[in-house]
Amino acid sequence: MSSFKTTCCYCGVGCGIVVHRDRQGKLSLEGDKDHPVNRGMLCSKGMNLHYTVMDTSDRLLHPEMRYHRNAPRMRVSWEQALDRTAAVFRSIINRYGPDAVAFYASGQCLTEEYYVVNKLIKGFIGSNNIDTNSRLCMSSAVAAYKMSLGEDAVPGTYDDIELADCIFVAGANPAWCHPILWRRIEAAKAANPALRIIVSDPRVTQSCASADLHLQLNPGTDIVLHHAIGRLLIEQGFTDKDFIHQHTEGFTRYRDAVMQRSIAEAAIICGIPEQQLYEAAALIGPSKGFMTMWTMGLNQSAVGVSKNLSLINLHLITGKIGQPGNGPFSLTGQPNAMGGRETGGLANLLPAHRLLDDPTHRAEVQAFWGGTTISDKPGLTATDMFSALQSGSLKAIWIMGSNPLVSLPDARAMEAALQKASFVVVQEISSKPETLKYADVVLPAAAWAEKEGTMTNAERRISYLSKITEAPGEALPDAEIICRFAQKMGYKGFDYAHAGEIYDEHCRLTAGTRIDISSLSYKILQECRSIQWPYKNGQGTARLFTDHLFYTKHQKAVIHTVGDENTSEAHNEDFPLILTTGRIRDQWHTMSKTGKVSKLKQHIASSFLEIHPRDAEARHLRQDDLVVVSSPRGQVRVKTKISTDIKPGVVFLPMHWGKILQNDLNRANNLTNNLTDPISRQPDLKFATVEVTKYRKP
Ligand code: SF4
Repeated sequence: MSSFKTTCCYCGVGCGIVVHRDRQGKLSLEGDKDHPVNRGMLCSKGMNLHYTVMDTSDRLLHPEMRYHRNAPRMRVSWEQALDRTAAVFRSIINRYGPDAVAFYASGQCLTEEYYVVNKLIKGFIGSNNIDTNSRLCMSSAVAAYKMSLGEDAVPGTYDDIELADCIFVAGANPAWCHPILWRRIEAAKAANPALRIIVSDPRVTQSCASADLHLQLNPGTDIVLHHAIGRLLIEQGFTDKDFIHQHTEGFTRYRDAVMQRSIAEAAIICGIPEQQLYEAAALIGPSKGFMTMWTMGLNQSAVGVSKNLSLINLHLITGKIGQPGNGPFSLTGQPNAMGGRETGGLANLLPAHRLLDDPTHRAEVQAFWGGTTISDKPGLTATDMFSALQSGSLKAIWIMGSNPLVSLPDARAMEAALQKASFVVVQEISSKPETLKYADVVLPAAAWAEKEGTMTNAERRISYLSKITEAPGEALPDAEIICRFAQKMGYKGFDYAHAGEIYDEHCRLTAGTRIDISSLSYKILQECRSIQWPYKNGQGTARLFTDHLFYTKHQKAVIHTVGDENTSEAHNEDFPLILTTGRIRDQWHTMSKTGKVSKLKQHIASSFLEIHPRDAEARHLRQDDLVVVSSPRGQVRVKTKISTDIKPGVVFLPMHWGKILQNDLNRANNLTNNLTDPISRQPDLKFATVEVTKYRKP
């Protein structure tokens, strides 16, 4: 029996795992008791991760290719697949320019994979057309951190949980979506009965079970809620005047703005009792340790950046930031969304959080890579990439480890875009994802435990992942696939002998930046297993801004005054209900991994529509009735789950289902729209207008 220490590849909590491999190659696993994140605990998804690797029945084993759209794909060698892909890319770039090609990657990619694909497109092809499904997850939080604190950096650490006495969970259900973090919060509450938990969510979720106060607000009213709490904190004398004066800008304007709306009016807009706003302020104001935690309820919105800023403002007006137990803490959905941003793996970024619009930053990276001139034109973001395919300005797309036909909004429009593309490359582990239908070239990739590398979790902790077993068939690690392709294109600087060489190059490129890990190395990470950036003098950094010097121009945090209106799709008589989408406990994304594990289907086996009894009664619906959910864009057919856990006027669909396990009539994104936040370009996945009717056989 051999044992390997590694990291869970599902969510951004980043739990440590010990995997055991017996002589027959059979895997088993347990939580790593020595890991600072999970201390031996694992959730249902992490506990069953090894089954996703041992079951290879769905895996892509060989490269495949077709010469025209209507032909079947045939098995080919790696040489044939990469030679043809390079020839097509060269031809498109020569004819239409470098911006006619794009890469769409994943927050599941390892940092080394992000690094090489970003280097390839920005540094050698000469386009910034790389974006990832992290755009659907974190981009609003990233923009808000930069605007308010001057850097895309979570200020705190998970150890703040045990030091806080008030935790405000806004637009998140960590009990299901970040389960191990939630267990730490529950344990902290058990140890410290004074710890108070506030949850804001239009649904009664599992997280509400442990909450002292549930603010069941109307969808899209988060800013009104945060502003009302801000007003009460000001009126009741809970602001920190010295902190505001010395370390912030913008307070007066903010105060004047939040005073415009009365508490009574705010309560009506939010759809909650007025008294609850006073209760929230009474819990937050006197707390010595105040943490906010949030995810998609704030981020996936047409006003996602403003929602984030309005929440961060509660810390800035009270000075509850940069001290143990305090701070705004965005929970990362994906396991390596943060590592991807460290390498600059988004359409508007350069490595080490350098800025694309800064000529000095472009010159630094270009000199380091030694490739072509880095374009100053921002690349296409996720939804724009697919719109550009539809309009014809983008010709070729390379999709790495993502299933956009289930995860992107307005799925049928995305499908039409892929149909229109001249050339589609899909680099995947599984033969199941819907996106493969449109692939001209399929490249089989190695999965978790079949390759090594690093990831960064939500608390800036970089963790090492071990290779434990061989990939099936001819599947290769993603970084190796990209490097082989780059060499076929004739580019220098992609002949790495090992993932560690890529990571060490990434570390060197961070020198002099705020996320400096230039003295860190792959070897150090293999030995210590995890460390929080920045890394200096042989030490990681648990908390940022402890000196209250922020990374903005004047070293002061900026209190942004934002409007409180929601700019989501407007209701009308035909579509009077608000659809919100989200996760269930035991599934991950579009189920290409968790969908293989029978144990994980036992919790919730199929998709459903959660609807309030009042809305069900008005439509003559009963429990488990088959219904058609319609929006201006499409339909979904599912059974009802009638429940008072959801607000009247709101319905909920899980986001996971597509064609993999059932047909595309379960795909929630048939209904969603492609509105995005104007700053972050994150889609408004939590708000679409729909109607529900009983299904009648044609
Ligand atoms: Fe994996 Fe997240 Fe569960 Fe931890 S909480 S075991 S990282 S899915």
